Amino acid sequence: MNVLQSYFVVCVCVFSVASPLAISADEFNWPLERITDKVYAIYGPFDLPNPENRGFRNTVVIVLTTEGVVVFDPGGSAWAGERIVERIKSLTDKQIVAVFNSHAHGDHWLGNEGVKKYYPDAMIYGHPNMKARAEGSDGKRWLDLINRVTEGKAGGKRITAPGRVVNNGDVIEVGDTNFRIYHTGQAHTDNDIFIEIVGENALFTGDVARNQFLGVMEEDASFKGNIAAIDFMLEKNFKYYIPAHGRAGGAEILKRYRAYLVTLRSIVKQLYDDEFADFEMKPQVIKALKNYQKWPGFDIRVGSHISRVYLEIEAEEF
Ligand SMILES: [Zn+2]
Repeated sequence: MNVLQSYFVVCVCVFSVASPLAISADEFNWPLERITDKVYAIYGPFDLPNPENRGFRNTVVIVLTTEGVVVFDPGGSAWAGERIVERIKSLTDKQIVAVFNSHAHGDHWLGNEGVKKYYPDAMIYGHPNMKARAEGSDGKRWLDLINRVTEGKAGGKRITAPGRVVNNGDVIEVGDTNFRIYHTGQAHTDNDIFIEIVGENALFTGDVARNQFLGVMEEDASFKGNIAAIDFMLEKNFKYYIPAHGRAGGAEILKRYRAYLVTLRSIVKQLYDDEFADFEMKPQVIKALKNYQKWPGFDIRVGSHISRVYLEIEAEEF
């Protein structure tokens, strides 16, 4: 069992009992809300994947074009992908013609399998590193992990990776709507894309920004790169920012998450310079992060965030 797997196994025990958002297994009644006339979102819970949510825990974006429906991040399991297809049918008669995956963490792309069951011709897009990870051992690891922590209720049987790659500056045209892709290098992962819905003044940030929620940062994360990516997004000055966890809103979402990352990095740097080891600095770092302690995920993630930032700063010193 690797670190990530053991991490989820430990955490899911805590969250599946305590979560106030747990749903019964056959329900999928998460809010579907309008952002603009063409753009909608389904807001999943902040829980870890568990048997109740069957792997669904993210924000799904739905864009209505003249050619058909485009979905960003269709959930974290085949089951969730199928339920999302059904919810979209309550919104429009049009078929899903394209899917974008923001990055390679399984809670954002395992739903591809469910969408493909209904719409086998839908084109799935992702960053080249995302496609490679999904098709490699990472993809298998995520599929197995979600099936296990949901006790087999995720419904996942096969890896459904992107069929086409996109990179910074690409524009994908679907009917009357253009989707502009941004990638600013290593940030939340080494394979993040942010997607502008051109003409709607809206940007999907993936996990590069989360709305008052903390989640996993793995070995390919760069906290420094994540801050730079948020600055890039803020400079574009969109009206709507849609994070991959939590509700859509304005620039304040990005500024809050950026403030968390900057505070974390600056206190760890200060204590590193004072020659604290990472485990020694934890109480002081947590004290400095008092404004963020109520965010879901803080208690279980902050320790690993400190360790990763410590390693990042240590690497910068050489
Ligand atoms: Zn992620």
